[in-house]
Amino acid sequence: MFLKSIEIFGFKSFADKSLIQFSDGVSALLGPNGCGKSNVVDAIKWVLGEQATKSLRADKMEDVIFNGTEARKALNVAEVTLTLQNDHNLLPLDMPEVSVKRRLYRNGDSEYYINNTPVRLKELRELFYDTGVGKSAYSIMEQGKIDQVLSNKPEERRLIFEEAAAITKFKVRGQEAERK
Ligand code: ATP
Ligand code: MG
Repeated sequence: MFLKSIEIFGFKSFADKSLIQFSDGVSALLGPNGCGKSNVVDAIKWVLGEQATKSLRADKMEDVIFNGTEARKALNVAEVTLTLQNDHNLLPLDMPEVSVKRRLYRNGDSEYYINNTPVRLKELRELFYDTGVGKSAYSIMEQGKIDQVLSNKPEERRLIFEEAAAITKFKVRGQEAERK
């Protein structure tokens, strides 16, 4: 499985629809300070269901919507689509390619899609359990994350091993069953 492309529109500094395509090797984003490199990483976390505004470097969720410049009006919607190659069906869908999309309107309405079918956030999160890709999983190693993992409490660190051992979904299902 690898990240094939990300399409960003109206998210942070991306006022125009932008498509970034990746190959299965190593890709690097280069550009001057403030050009939007970290915003791409924020967009990836966001589309994977990140709800913590701090982790998205925003005060409130509305701040992720393009808020205008001297030359351009603010937009009222942000939309990010991530397309993943899924040849080994690591994502539990029998499809060679899977896309996930998140949209947020300025009035607070939000929408999530898997392959263009509307889903709830919970379903989108479940898709990524045990793949290492989820918004809190280890596929995104931002600045300070290694330090955070090392200083975590053992119970918190254990979650990473559970994800790698592919038992997150069984644990979550067990907890849900206990609550019912
Ligand atoms: P550095 O090399 O310094 O880390 P960077 O390329 O990672 O820079 P980002 O942090 O991705 O830069 O982008 C910062 C830019 O995004 C700032 O110019 C900021 O004004 C802009 N920005 C953030 N949120 C919004 C928004 N909602 N609307 C418009 N622009 C935004
Ligand atoms: Mg940056």
